[in-house]
Amino acid sequence: METTLRKHIRDIPDFPKQGIVFKDITPILQNHGVFEGTIKSFVERYRNREIDLVVGIESRGFLFGAPIAHQLGAGFIPVRKKGKLPYKTVEISYDLEYGSATIEMHVDAIAKGHRVLVVDDLLATGGTADAACKLVIKQGGVVVECAFVVELGFLNGRSKMGNVPVHSLVNYS
Ligand code: AMP
Repeated sequence: METTLRKHIRDIPDFPKQGIVFKDITPILQNHGVFEGTIKSFVERYRNREIDLVVGIESRGFLFGAPIAHQLGAGFIPVRKKGKLPYKTVEISYDLEYGSATIEMHVDAIAKGHRVLVVDDLLATGGTADAACKLVIKQGGVVVECAFVVELGFLNGRSKMGNVPVHSLVNYS
């Protein structure tokens, strides 16, 4: 699976800005077999972990998180950038390289003790996923694991995640 995935992750230099190599995962989505295999490898890992909810991080985390939730028989919760969710929200701000960002989830999204899998397409510095985990914990949820298709290991995002276990399918170390 890992070799196949590497062939379906496209490097886009200088996107969205100079100096960033963007990992484009759309070729994974484009190929039914590869997309299915990607979802399946997560589902097999978490099938017996009693996951109540999958939290997907905007926006590419939705593309992987929703089918994983569906196949696990779990609910799906979107975490979005501030101002996008329609109902009452809880929010958290975190530092970016320049400035800061705020993400939100609905105030009634997670009940105390819910076992939660957090999903995004890519782990870079870990700031976004760490903030999403903190939101889940603040709502009384238990983060079972944070799962990513791609990990940019050289950025050491894992070290930001504290005690939360991290899993990725492809690591660029
Ligand atoms: P971070 O908070 O630094 O871990 O950044 C993670 C978020 O930014 C994820 O939602 C990723 O989709 C996106 N991201 C960061 N760096 C890249 C990259 N090089 N290629 C694609 N997406 C990225």
